[in-house]
Amino acid sequence: MNTISCPKCGAAFTPEVIFENAELSWPSLDLIYFRCPKCYAYTYIRVSVGTMATVNLLSPDGKQIETIQSITVENITVRKTAKAMTVIYNGNEYDYNALA
Ligand SMILES: [Zn+2]
Repeated sequence: MNTISCPKCGAAFTPEVIFENAELSWPSLDLIYFRCPKCYAYTYIRVSVGTMATVNLLSPDGKQIETIQSITVENITVRKTAKAMTVIYNGNEYDYNALA
C-alpha cells in the first residue's frame, strides 16, 4: 500500500489518515495543510488527480515548491473553488476551507 511519511517524525500514513488530519487549503497551489497525529507537526501536502506529495514551500507565495515525497494514488479527485478545496477519495469527501 502507498503511504506518505511525515517529514518530521517519519511516521507513515495512508491517504485516508492524511485527508482526515488535514485542515485548510490553498486551492490555487493545490495544497492542503496536514497535521501529523503522532508528532503534531504541520506539513504541506500537494494533492492533484492521481497523486499526492509532501512538499516544502521555498517562497512565501508558494510558487517555488520542493517535493519531499510523491506517491501515486488512484481514485483521487480534486474540486476547487476560490473558497475551498475538496478531495474525493474512495467515496469520501474531505472539505478544506481556503486560507486566502
Ligand atoms: Zn510526524
